[in-house]
Amino acid sequence: DAVARRVTELVRLVPDYPQPGVLFRDITPLLADARAFADVVAAMASVAGQVDLVAGMEARGFLLAGPVATALGAGLVPVRKAGKLPGPTASATYALEYGEAEIEIHPATITPGARVLVVDDVLATGGTAAATVGLLRSCGADVVGLSFLVELAGLGGRAHLPGLSVDTVLTVD
Ligand code: IMP
Repeated sequence: DAVARRVTELVRLVPDYPQPGVLFRDITPLLADARAFADVVAAMASVAGQVDLVAGMEARGFLLAGPVATALGAGLVPVRKAGKLPGPTASATYALEYGEAEIEIHPATITPGARVLVVDDVLATGGTAAATVGLLRSCGADVVGLSFLVELAGLGGRAHLPGLSVDTVLTVD
């Protein structure tokens, strides 16, 4: 549709960033376009019904999760890299291609049974999203779905999110 076409035009492809062999999707031109930014936020918010919270992943996920949360009348939960939150925190570790990563949230911000939508810019291998879902659930959240700007379908991220509603504005191979 028209919004997906705009995303294709405004997400810049950067070869070999941040490492050789990686084709990085740079969303900064999209964020800088007022109309496209608003349209993308509306599209990403439209996938969910009533939610209590939107969880956004550091760092680019924050840029989308904040406006999506206000569009839905929901609160925001920042999912941060380890060591950034003052605590008490709940954490999850997950495997990366090389090594592992750790994410943290403040569990006190999640009331048991809270309906949570997870938002990020890119769904790649799904490792970050799966860890986020697990962490939110361990804190009592009811994860109602995930909303991404771009899905890199060739990396098979959806397979790590079984039984979950996964929506994306643009899907590419
Ligand atoms: P995954 O865990 O492999 O699915 O990677 C997803 C995470 O890496 C997300 O938090 C994305 O922001 C980031 N990411 C992966 N590939 C890209 C990209 O091409 N552009 C921007 N972010 C990316």
